[in-house]
Parts: sequence; structure tokens; C-alpha cells
Amino acid sequence: MQPFSYDIDRQIRLLFLGSALAAAANLAVTWALALPYLPVYYAAAAAAYLAMARTVRIRRFVPAYCAAFLLAAGQSFVSVYVLGDDCGIQLYLLALIIPCHYVRLTGCSQAFQRRFIIGACCACVVLYLVSDELIDQVLTPLSRMDGQAEMFFTFLNVAGSLSLLVFVSSIFASGYQKELNRLRADNTLLSAAAAYDALTGLKNRRGMEPALQSAYGEWLQNGRPLSIAIGDVDHFKQLNDAYGHEAGDLVLKTLGELFSRWSDGPAVSVCRWGGEEFLFLLAVPEEAAACMLEGLRAQLAAQPFSCGGAALRVSMTFGVAGIRSGQTLLDLFRQADRGLYAGKENGRDQVVRAQPA
Ligand code: GH3
Ligand code: MG
Ligand code: MG
Repeated sequence: MQPFSYDIDRQIRLLFLGSALAAAANLAVTWALALPYLPVYYAAAAAAYLAMARTVRIRRFVPAYCAAFLLAAGQSFVSVYVLGDDCGIQLYLLALIIPCHYVRLTGCSQAFQRRFIIGACCACVVLYLVSDELIDQVLTPLSRMDGQAEMFFTFLNVAGSLSLLVFVSSIFASGYQKELNRLRADNTLLSAAAAYDALTGLKNRRGMEPALQSAYGEWLQNGRPLSIAIGDVDHFKQLNDAYGHEAGDLVLKTLGELFSRWSDGPAVSVCRWGGEEFLFLLAVPEEAAACMLEGLRAQLAAQPFSCGGAALRVSMTFGVAGIRSGQTLLDLFRQADRGLYAGKENGRDQVVRAQPA
């Protein structure tokens, strides 16, 4: 599993490179048309965007965005003043709306982020309207290009600013989507891992819960038999004390392997209920369940466990309970627990069926 890795710095670099490219294209055209002021302004803007692409990181995003905003605003004011609003440069201001949302990844306070986004969006729109309408109406443009040059220049800027808008929104969305997909996949892995016990490889209590609920539902609706057994390792503390905790772990691991082989079928499932206790869920009547558990107990008693060269005998006591009408799952667990307790009292290494309360 990887840590969170949304590559925001790369996106910001691309953003400034795109802006530098647009300024360079305008520089070339205005230079070729020998227009006043504009080539100088675009040369300065292209150089500034390039420098920002090299140096800006997400932690310096706010001042960098403000600088880019001032550059774009100056660019559109000067262009509209020189060429009139048909030049289309002012559209670049609208392309600045999307990247202002990167402020969410800067670690600034929520309140600041909100104010920044609202402020930046409003400023983009207001300055766009000012440069698109007001400057052209109030100040007479210095020069007008001839028909074909103007058409080409307008086309260049409309296409450039719209492409920048598409480019910015697509890198924003694709980076976000990639990270979201990765987090979803990690989440699925984590949920699956959280349902299993790392030591024994069996399901844990949380992983068993859906199977328990579904077995109970099957019994309520279709009368499918349902029994449970709680099995507890006898004198496990002594085993830990005598051979060490690691030997105890090894025994639990071996038990896990044995139980998963034993429960290899649709009617039985086993989980590690906690510590050295295991829960057996059996879709058979109580008597058959007790019989199956007796077989398992005998198998266990006959199997030596090797621990650091020594052959250990491990026994378990089981309390079994089959569900009856009117009982809840909790009643069933209490009944199985009473059986287990009686088995421990009675000398251990046995399977006990307790009567309902
Ligand atoms: P009883 O026959 O009455 O069940 O006695 P017991 O010693 O098995 O029961 P007790 O509840 O006194 O002790 C259970 C022990 O199981 C104590 C605890 O340290 C140990 N245990 C629980 N989880 C683990 C584990 O993951 N690994 C190891 N090695 N020991 C564990
Ligand atoms: Mg116990
Ligand atoms: Mg025990």
C-alpha cells in the first residue's frame, strides 16, 4: 500500500508551463505584427511563468497563484488597451478559475481556503468583465490590426485560452481520479485484511459477523439448522509459561491450519473468536454438531504439536448449542458458553451440550 501521493507539484509545473507556452505564442505573433508594448509584456510574462514552473511547489501556491493572476490581469488589460477586446486575451483570466481550487491541498485553514476560492473566482470574473467591456468602452484602443491578422490573433487566443482551460481541468480531474481509484483499491484491501486474523489466517470476530447474521436469517426464514460451538484451548497459559509466548503462537497457528482443513465445506466455518478461543458455526442440528466436534477433539488429542523439538499435547474444551424457537443469537452464545464452562469445570478436553436457560 502506498502513502497518499497526489502529485500536485507536477500539476502546478504543467500549469505554469502551459501559461508560458501561451505567452510565448502571443509574443511571437505580436512581434511578427510589430505591435507596440505587447511583445515586451509577453516576453516578461513567458519568462515569469517559466521561472514559476521551475520553482513553485504546493507550499508556495498562494503567492504564486496571486503573481500569476496579476500577470494575467496585466496581460489582458494591456492587450485590450492596445488592440481592443476582440483580441481574446482576457479569456485567459477565466482559465485561472480552476487552479484556485489547488489551495485545498496547501494545508491552509478551511476558512482561508474558502475565502481564497470565493475571492479568486470573483476576481477572475470581475477582471474579465472589466477588461472585456470597460477598457474597450472607456479607453480607445491604440491600434487596430488589419482584418486577417486580427482574425488570426483572436483565433489564437480564443483557442489558446480554451485549450488551457481544458488542459488545466483535465490534469486536475485525472490526477484526482487516479488518486481516488488508488485509495478505493487500498480501502478494499484494508477491509478484507480487517476481517482476518493475522496469526491463524482464520476469520476474526468481525469477519465472522456477516456469516453469523446470514445463518441466523436462514434459520428464521427457511428453518435451516444452526449450531455454534465455542472451543477454548486447555491450560494455554501454562503452555505459554512453560514454552514461551512464541511456542503458544505456533500452537495457535497450527490449530488455525487444522481448523481450516477441517471446516473445508459449506456447512462449517471457523473463526478466531479472541485469544485462544475459536468459534465454530455449523449448519447442522445440535446433535450432529456435537458429534462433529467430538471427532475434531479426538483428532486434536491424537495429534502431537512440535514446539522447539518437544512434542506437546494440546487439548480443547468445546461448548455446543443448537438454536431453538424463540432464541436469539445472544441466547445461543450464552448457551454454548455455559457448555464450555461446564466442560472446564468437569476436567476439560471434552464436548459439552448445555441446556437452554
Ligand atoms: P483454561 O484451561 O481454563 O482455558 O486455562 P487457560 O490457561 O487456557 O486460560 P486463561 O484464560 O487463564 O489463559 C489464556 C491465555 O492465553 C492467556 C493469554 O496470555 C494467552 N493468549 C491469548 N492470546 C494469545 C496469543 O495470541 N498468543 C499467545 N501465545 N498466547 C495468547
Ligand atoms: Mg480462554
Ligand atoms: Mg483456555
